[in-house]
Amino acid sequence: MEERKFTLLSAELRCPACQAEDAFTLFGRTEKIPYFGEVMETMLQCKNCGLRSSDIMCLEQKEPTRYKYKVSNPQDLFIKVVRSSTGVIKIPELGITITPGPQAEGYISNIEGVLERVADVVKMTIKWADTTDQKRKGEEVLNLIKLAKDGQTSLTLIIEDPFGNSAIVSENEAKIEKKRLSFSEIEQYRMPQTLR
Ligand SMILES: [Zn+2]
Repeated sequence: MEERKFTLLSAELRCPACQAEDAFTLFGRTEKIPYFGEVMETMLQCKNCGLRSSDIMCLEQKEPTRYKYKVSNPQDLFIKVVRSSTGVIKIPELGITITPGPQAEGYISNIEGVLERVADVVKMTIKWADTTDQKRKGEEVLNLIKLAKDGQTSLTLIIEDPFGNSAIVSENEAKIEKKRLSFSEIEQYRMPQTLR
């Protein structure tokens, strides 16, 4: 993340994590994302406990939306992704759903970046897995991610955001399936961040 582009929004606040006075700083920057809208990227950090977090918020009113994109060749890896801390990531072929929780971070990246972050989560679950079966399943997922990045298998990236702050963005809008989320679909996201 290019920190120098951020401007100071607020400083010398009390840190919500360590409670240190005057240690907490909030930075922000706005970016106009073609085919989506203007977003505010925020970053907060505590100089006492080292807490760092970032998030994305769309500055325009958005509907709860599901974006779906078939990743079938290496060119697709460059498709832009806006993932807010409220965005749910699903990759059905990998059996993966990442729902947001208090630790969720927002970011602007591309499909390759999202796959790398998913791989990091899978590596963590392999590390903490109780059974060799779970470890093997994790290794299979990592292998599929690698194959998809090489264009040897296809994956479907789905991002659902009940607040509409997340998106898959491309000038070739025909490749992106976009749908408004129903009330029952929004309701199911009242749970902590987990890998299911
Ligand atoms: Zn702190």
